[in-house]
Amino acid sequence: MDKIIAVLKGDGIGPEIVDSAIAVLQMIERRFNIKFDYRFGLIGGVAIDATGAPLPSDTLELCKNADAVLLGAVGGPKWDGLAAHLRPEKALLSLRQSLGLFANLRPAVLYDSLKSSSPLRADIVKNGIDLIVVRELTGGIYFGPRGFRDGPLGQEAFDTEVYSIAEVEQIAKVAFEIAMGRRKKLTSVDKANVLDSGKLWRATVDKIAKSYPDVTVEHILVDNCAMQIVKDPSQFDVMLMPNMFGDILSDEAAMVTGSIGLLPSASLGAGKKGLYEPIHGSAPTIAGQDIANPIATILSCGMLLATSFDMIAPANAIEKAVSETLKKGFRTPDIFNGSAGTRRVGTKKITEEIAIRI
Ligand code: NAD
Repeated sequence: MDKIIAVLKGDGIGPEIVDSAIAVLQMIERRFNIKFDYRFGLIGGVAIDATGAPLPSDTLELCKNADAVLLGAVGGPKWDGLAAHLRPEKALLSLRQSLGLFANLRPAVLYDSLKSSSPLRADIVKNGIDLIVVRELTGGIYFGPRGFRDGPLGQEAFDTEVYSIAEVEQIAKVAFEIAMGRRKKLTSVDKANVLDSGKLWRATVDKIAKSYPDVTVEHILVDNCAMQIVKDPSQFDVMLMPNMFGDILSDEAAMVTGSIGLLPSASLGAGKKGLYEPIHGSAPTIAGQDIANPIATILSCGMLLATSFDMIAPANAIEKAVSETLKKGFRTPDIFNGSAGTRRVGTKKITEEIAIRI
């Protein structure tokens, strides 16, 4: 049976970047003689407009019945005034939770041809950047006990970082497995010098490490990690971290590569199914102008094929086509800096260039 891909375009630039990704997937279908079954659903602001809910039940059902989910982005000023539980972004949290997606994978790669786009000095990025952040997604402070209460100085608010050994084991295994397929180095990020949850995190990672003797493990405090990402990002291979640290540091790791328009992500659970999306948002101010960079979404399809469908050759073909297109000098405005041999092009043109290189 054909693999089912639930396609949720969402808001802002979501529809145009997802259309680009599908155009590339269609080339993959032709070149590798495979067939995907695309099934479309509403999510985010467009879903609110059509149904009143950011994640309508039929969209959730569609995703549950699919082999993988491809998402554009959600949100925009039109819906900013809505109550938190009705906002477009709520759909993402609900979807991840409903599908049990506890691991968020964000590779950050600096292409040779784009070294000048990095905000870091040339001598810092001379060794390149090729890391992947593995972030725990369904535990920690975003999901622990929280609230407002009366305290000795008046009203106070609290959020609680809670991790069970089982939760840490689960995400650590994902990170070690990924490390085995890469350069076999794992950096675990915590705040074990201050937080008990950090001590438990570190001890659990060490326990899981015993099953992966080929992987070199180092522990790093989150504050030092934030410094090291800008001091020498080439030292990192797989970076494992709790939910909130991952939220913050994965954006930092993304930014040092130059553009958030280039970076894909995957959210995974216990099985093969995953949710694949660019790391950026819906960029409403540039929507509909044929200037959005579709590469993050196209590379998300590469992750989808490799991770959920075990289609390694097609996934590699996508990565190679993107890399060659950049090498040829094609640049969307967000990564165009006028350097010699480059050419500013729109969303449609860069999509065509990537597609013909599949
Ligand atoms: P954003 O990522 O949408 O945009 C940040 C900046 O990057 C903007 O200047 C934008 O124009 C640019 N940008 C982003 N993607 C780009 C691309 N593919 N090509 C070229 N330029 C690109 O973040 P924001 O402005 O903080 O948020 C806009 C909306 O997106 C908000 O409603 C926010 O809640 C939502 N959002 C959604 C997601 C998601 O769907 N996963 C993630 C983050 C933000």
